[in-house]
Amino acid sequence: MAERTLSIIKPDAVSKGVIGKIVDRFESNDLRIAAMKKVQLSRAMAEQFYAIHRERPFFGELVGFMTSGPVVVMVLEGDNAVAKNRELMGATNPKEAAAGTIRADFAESIDANAVHGSDSAENAALEISQFFAEFEIL
Ligand code: GDP
Repeated sequence: MAERTLSIIKPDAVSKGVIGKIVDRFESNDLRIAAMKKVQLSRAMAEQFYAIHRERPFFGELVGFMTSGPVVVMVLEGDNAVAKNRELMGATNPKEAAAGTIRADFAESIDANAVHGSDSAENAALEISQFFAEFEIL
């Protein structure tokens, strides 16, 4: 079933110059780029986006990292987009990520882990609406 998910290329991967290589992983695996933009998150935007993690000990670090430089935000569309994106991303900790995944290939640490991907279709819809209006998703 065609589905949408939100992907973010995080500041570490943007500053390393691997935007194109990461986008290629999606396009090569039948995930279409339905929307895309480069943005600098404000503190308030990052706090809202990660509100679910507000009580976690790493929340401050996470918000600090996500606002440390520009990110690329995308809507990916395709069959089982949420699960497929999570599979292409690999485990949260790049040291545990399977070989050939985005995090295994481009990430350094559990905080600077190259990409974000929605974890359910329901959260994807919420996250997409934080960044894109419907007319920007094509
Ligand atoms: P994800 O869905 O794989 O991105 O993982 P989670 O939803 O569990 O965590 C969200 C994000 O918080 C991760 O992608 C990491 O950037 C960050 N994070 C998770 N665990 C830790 C941690 O122990 N320390 C730090 N600094 N960041 C973490």
